[in-house]
Amino acid sequence: MEENIKWDDSSDEIMDIIKVVEDNKEIQIPINCPICNTSNAHIYMHRYEDDRGTIWTWCSNCKSCTHGSRMKLPKWWENADFINDSERTSHPVFLELKVNMIDEHLRQLLKKNCHRKRIIHQSGC
Ligand SMILES: [Zn+2]
Repeated sequence: MEENIKWDDSSDEIMDIIKVVEDNKEIQIPINCPICNTSNAHIYMHRYEDDRGTIWTWCSNCKSCTHGSRMKLPKWWENADFINDSERTSHPVFLELKVNMIDEHLRQLLKKNCHRKRIIHQSGC
């Protein structure tokens, strides 16, 4: 498991970026990392049959990462079809390989969610 050595999951602080995304739909992606303060932080989630799933957050720069299973996922989240279920590991090794696609996936979901909100509430995001 040499691939895992570079990842540091000793701090949960990187999880804070989930709240940042929830509070601010026009956020810059990649997200600003609360640990090294560079814009290299990412989020991926995997929803199971109910509203729960696994959330990974990680930073490509400082390699801080964390993951939580059986977390309540935001309603707007949709699984990406380019992530193979069998590749999943606790460290974001498999996610880092597709990081550009994951960032774009998150952008699209936030955009879609923002658009829907505008129609229902006639307001901006
Ligand atoms: Zn970082």
